[in-house]
Amino acid sequence: MNSSVTGKKEYKFSEIIADPVIKERFEKVRKYFFLRESTYDMTHRCNVRCEGCYYFAGEKQFAEENLDENSWQTLLEAEKERGITFVVLAGAEPSLVPQLCEVCYRTIPLGAIATNGLIHIPLHIDYKIHISVWGNDQTSLEIRKAKDMLARQIVNYQDDPRAIFVYTFTPVNIDQAREVTALLAQNGHKITFNMFSAPEGYQGHLRHDPDTLARTRQTMTELLLQYPETVVYSHYNIVAHTDPKGLHALYSCSYPRRNPLSDIGLGRSFRQYRTDLQWDREAACCVPDTDCDDCRHYAAGSAVVTARMYRHASDPESFKAWLDYVDTYLAVWVKDYTKGQNLCDRFIAPPSAEA
Ligand code: SF4
Repeated sequence: MNSSVTGKKEYKFSEIIADPVIKERFEKVRKYFFLRESTYDMTHRCNVRCEGCYYFAGEKQFAEENLDENSWQTLLEAEKERGITFVVLAGAEPSLVPQLCEVCYRTIPLGAIATNGLIHIPLHIDYKIHISVWGNDQTSLEIRKAKDMLARQIVNYQDDPRAIFVYTFTPVNIDQAREVTALLAQNGHKITFNMFSAPEGYQGHLRHDPDTLARTRQTMTELLLQYPETVVYSHYNIVAHTDPKGLHALYSCSYPRRNPLSDIGLGRSFRQYRTDLQWDREAACCVPDTDCDDCRHYAAGSAVVTARMYRHASDPESFKAWLDYVDTYLAVWVKDYTKGQNLCDRFIAPPSAEA
């Protein structure tokens, strides 16, 4: 719909960034536009087994492990040559193969490791460490079959500047986010939020519905306001991840699995390597085997939402909301990046695909 019909003012991009606050934030985040990510399954083993883990859906869990450090070195050098500047090490559980994480770090020093936090990753592997939390310790015992999980994670990563806790909201742990956030705040940790996103074919009780999405939205908002020093998030992150529509429906996912364009952006550069160092364009995204219609995953959003800069450059408030999202994403994923104060403190509707 054009502006003469809606009555909305049309902005040029130069008018939006004429605001000095917006301009400063845009200059801050644009320095990181060089980031080009790929992800790597480091091992198919894990020391816990969580209900609904997307790693153990689909075929990738059956790939053979390649534990040869020289093979990993060769792969990472080729990745660097290909223009990859940021690696996400996942798996199953990367802390079980620290020697391979170290090889990756030596070759591409920007990246993040997704871990359950039960085994400390050596400090000299200076990536961001994302420690997954699925509720309080009672819930973790039920869903992950691990005792005292949060208490052990907090001790393992106490005063470790690499660490950020990632709380995955499921329908059954929404209220527990309050006690977990309070405990992390007491211990000086940071927390960001993730949403359970069902693996393909998942029929269990952790899939969100409109009611649990609304309750999650309310809880996230309360925590963001109550713990501004602890919670690394923004109102627009809440909008993007708790909408009844998933990320693909809202923003059009740019990962190869949903994006046929292979000549630009993620469609060209992104690969998702399995433990045998092979990759498959048809399956390539940061959370493979997740049901795209239910995908609200924080890792997916960090690329899918940020890639839609021009859709948000329609007016100053939408652009501020997008800048908050990018600022949050960089603070979560890039070491030594400090999040600024959020610029937009209300809910802005995601832009339509035509914008
Ligand atoms: S699961 Fe999410 S990130 Fe992966 S292709 Fe689907 S929408 Fe994109």
